[in-house]
Amino acid sequence: MNLSRNKRLEQTLLTLALLTLPLAGAGCSTNPATGQKQFNLLSQSQEVSLGSEAAPQFLKEYGGPIPSPGIRQYVSEVGLKLAKVSERPSLPWEFHAVDSAQINAFALPGGKVFITRGLLSKLDSEAQLAGVLGHEIGHVTAQHIGQQMSRAAVASGVVQVIGVAASVQDETWLQVLGVGAQAGGGLYLLKFGRDQETQSDELGVRYMTTLGYNPMAQIQVMRVLKEASGGGGGMEMLQTHPLPQTRIEHLRDHIRSKYPNFRDESQMAFRKQAYQDAVLTPLAKLPPPKHTGQ
Ligand SMILES: [Zn+2]
Repeated sequence: MNLSRNKRLEQTLLTLALLTLPLAGAGCSTNPATGQKQFNLLSQSQEVSLGSEAAPQFLKEYGGPIPSPGIRQYVSEVGLKLAKVSERPSLPWEFHAVDSAQINAFALPGGKVFITRGLLSKLDSEAQLAGVLGHEIGHVTAQHIGQQMSRAAVASGVVQVIGVAASVQDETWLQVLGVGAQAGGGLYLLKFGRDQETQSDELGVRYMTTLGYNPMAQIQVMRVLKEASGGGGGMEMLQTHPLPQTRIEHLRDHIRSKYPNFRDESQMAFRKQAYQDAVLTPLAKLPPPKHTGQ
């Protein structure tokens, strides 16, 4: 199974390289969130097109919008506030709460962020929600997906190949993100590296604390994920966002050194009651999720 997956990825990356190279000028640029030089073959407009194109398919695959306008709006509002204080406020950000029992959250390039009902039900404060969404925003602002794809294209040697320019509407673009994978394969997303996870953790904490959320909520989420996975890495969220113990330890040290007043809850709030009222109470009244993930 892994083999066919790799093969499919290789094919889609080959196609990506063919599509991208003639369109992109230089592959090197400075990242807006991290200030680091990066190798990224995707331009911002390509990123946005790719994400906008893929978003409806992911929405559908994950059971569609959660059947509660209140929850959808709340998730969207918290997400948009965070995105506004990020380094890429003008992307066409969207935050989707989807009707899936899986425990997952992910971002598509260009600012389309998803969180499942399964994960929402495991959280207990608005700060934790902000932690999850902030982390996903971090993957977008740091342009991790474009970098992952670019690196893999180089690694497979296809970057030398110059082919014809095709439109981003081409479905091969979507296959890069796993949409339109073969029957039975389901969707999959590129797995992030440990450094990228740590970078997104720090960016997420930066955005959430700017809005006055308590950064310790980010660590609470990691514990929730660890517990829900039963110690293994089999859960959906952990397949794309690896969570070694060192990631938790790094974040704890980061928070203690950069946000020493995290114990002062008058300045750095959790907002548990708000989350209870806006999400957990209405969630308990909904029919079972449409997407079981089985
Ligand atoms: Zn991640």
